[in-house]
Amino acid sequence: MGRVDFDAIVVGARVAGAATALYLARRGYTVLLLDRDRFPSPTLSTHLFFTDTLGALRELGALERVLAVDAPRLRWLRFPYVAAPFPEHDGLDFALCIRREVLDTILLERAAAQPEITVKTGTRVTGLVWDDGRVAGVRYRARRGRAEGEARARIVIGADGRHSFVARAAGAAEYDLVAPLFAWYYTYLLDVPLDDPPSATAFSGPFSEVGAEYAAAFLFPADSGLTLVGFGVEHRAFVRFRRNVRANFFAGLRSLPEAWERVGQGRLASRILGTGQLPNLFRAAWGPGWALVGDAGCHKDPHTAQGMGDAVRSARLLVTALDRWWRGEESEAEALARYQRERDTELRPMYDFTTFRLQAQVGDEIWERFNQLTWEDAELARRRVAAMTHALHPAEVYTPNAVRQTVAAATTS
Ligand SMILES: Cc1cc2nc3c(=O)[nH]c(=O)nc-3n(C[C@H](O)[C@H](O)[C@H](O)COP(=O)(O)OP(=O)(O)OC[C@H]3O[C@@H](n4cnc5c(N)ncnc54)[C@H](O)[C@@H]3O)c2cc1C
Repeated sequence: MGRVDFDAIVVGARVAGAATALYLARRGYTVLLLDRDRFPSPTLSTHLFFTDTLGALRELGALERVLAVDAPRLRWLRFPYVAAPFPEHDGLDFALCIRREVLDTILLERAAAQPEITVKTGTRVTGLVWDDGRVAGVRYRARRGRAEGEARARIVIGADGRHSFVARAAGAAEYDLVAPLFAWYYTYLLDVPLDDPPSATAFSGPFSEVGAEYAAAFLFPADSGLTLVGFGVEHRAFVRFRRNVRANFFAGLRSLPEAWERVGQGRLASRILGTGQLPNLFRAAWGPGWALVGDAGCHKDPHTAQGMGDAVRSARLLVTALDRWWRGEESEAEALARYQRERDTELRPMYDFTTFRLQAQVGDEIWERFNQLTWEDAELARRRVAAMTHALHPAEVYTPNAVRQTVAAATTS
């Protein structure tokens, strides 16, 4: 290995990148953390997160500041396929919805306060530095400026989101692809009445104006008195939907009376944002000198709100693997191959549920029965919500065997 400036260079400084840097710093490793954005800055994402993410924020020393943000503690998940309270997990029993310009900035400031972490925002990574067949560093450029910089490290980590530059430049292979499923749009409203207890709520129905057999609205009470209100349609209706986003967004909300009952009382507080560019894929998690975390390594449609939790989960696993390598317990290849296996095992059940691969594996009849049972059996509903929040390992609920066993047990009882 030639010159090394840092143990790790992390490209992307939001949930996955800041968490990775902080987990590395906790073990005494040095990090260069880069992001092309300047903070505070929003990103295209709604922001529901669960106790698994709160647990990671606690590990990373950011929980106190996050809990000090003025945001209602959401006690129930009320989605079209399940309704149950959020389970207790390490003393926390609620979900939060905090705008990303607030949440990501708290994490980034925490990272910047660590002596091991050098933060450069407003800095775009423009190339990878290769050395003898392995990635040895990055080239970067300040957003306002022409001068290129170069930094070298033992590992370059792509935490740069679903369109990851690092993944493309390193040639990371993609697998288990599923075509985009939905297009999602959202905005913020003021003065939307809170439900009791405050809940993350979604409603579904068809939206024939744009030819969608399935559409859904969601209301997530957020920070600063805002309610995040969203509406989405199945992907084949995306082109028609986006011809007039504003009109279709509000017509869609009106078409779901339970949603409109609350939304109609609010005042629009921002523009409508959204996208239909939501690929579902895993990427190879590593190669010589590089690794991927967060959306860069696995992206899935956000309708099950797994993105932020998966980002911190993969960050924790990656840093454990790097530590094994750097302490000489395993070679780079052993440690990072294990990271990929563990990441995939952790993420796969919810990935398959989110992308309807699980439904396809068990067949429609069993799946419909499973969903019906969820409304008849409060304990099953609780287990499903516990699996979504990772209070319970999702494999205990969202694998073909687990689904079949649940249905079989109900049939014989
Ligand atoms: C419409 C929508 C709704 C969503 N709703 C939810 C939800 O409710 N709950 C949930 O948990 N998840 C949700 N998600 C998913 C969630 O946003 C992501 O899973 C999460 O942000 C992943 O974090 P990340 O750090 O991996 O990537 P990102 O948040 O995408 O961050 C990547 C960072 O990398 C930087 N970057 C990219 N390229 C470069 C470069 N070349 N040089 C320097 N920096 C670079 C970017 O500026 C960015 O800051 C939603 C996503 C969308 C699109």
